Amino acid sequence: MRGLPLLLALFVAAVPTRIARAAAPKEPPKTAPTPTDAEVTDSDDSEDDDPEEEEAIPTPARVKAMRAGAHLEAATLSEQVGLKIHRVVIDAGHGGHDAGAIGPHGVREKDAALGIAKRLAQKLKSHNLEVVLTRGSDTFVPLRERAERANAAHADLFISIHCNAARRHTLAGTETYFLDVASNHYAARLAARENAESDQPLSDLELILSDLATKSNTADSERLAARVQRSLTSAPMSKRYRPIKDLGVKHALFAVLIGAKMPAILVETAFISNPREEQRLKNAHYQEDAAQAVATGVLNYIEDRRRVAGVY
Ligand SMILES: [Zn+2]
Repeated sequence: MRGLPLLLALFVAAVPTRIARAAAPKEPPKTAPTPTDAEVTDSDDSEDDDPEEEEAIPTPARVKAMRAGAHLEAATLSEQVGLKIHRVVIDAGHGGHDAGAIGPHGVREKDAALGIAKRLAQKLKSHNLEVVLTRGSDTFVPLRERAERANAAHADLFISIHCNAARRHTLAGTETYFLDVASNHYAARLAARENAESDQPLSDLELILSDLATKSNTADSERLAARVQRSLTSAPMSKRYRPIKDLGVKHALFAVLIGAKMPAILVETAFISNPREEQRLKNAHYQEDAAQAVATGVLNYIEDRRRVAGVY
């Protein structure tokens, strides 16, 4: 007979604890210190509710406060090292008296590049990125001025849109370039075609000085190039346009990228000298799809960086 009261006593003792635990989430204002809440709200990335918080108070609140503080500190640090990307400069190649390459049926690189660039601008804007176009119409902008404009705008990324060209009309495909500053002998490796309209030859000193501005961005430029290239050559592009040849990510010395103080790439969307790709390049649907593919690549790259920032 002694067993029953003992069990009853144990039950009664257990009930208040259960009630207390069930009630705890309904009364956070009494237990959670207000400064913590304020900090979490400010961080605009509030953590998921931690189930442990309900059990032991106020220690978890302090832990939460420390977490919130650490999170804020990390975000600020990310900003300080430029991990946040707000502004993108989109550079439509050529323009005005510089038509760029001209296809066998008369399609001009400057027109296709502008069509894709303007569509890309719209797509990035719809993802809350600020966009600056180096040209929004058929005007001539010297190569050097393009990177200068990007620097003056404090852009976080620089994307130059071009079309490829070759003597052999069978050559086709997509390739994305980033600036190579890893070795010497610049002049020998000048990417002659896209630099042809450069008003002055680049001096060795200028190229060496550009090292300092661009070297720190080389790894990021390569990552951005890889994301954009992949997006341009995989589904849905690869399904919609067959074939799409993936010529890969490459490095070269493009005058337009020299001096840019941010990750910078040059996209050769397709070969305007290839009749099939020339038809694509003048087609509004292709321009729209290519712009979407570049935008997806850019957004993937931004997402990668956010993930890296979250780790630190
Ligand atoms: Zn070009």
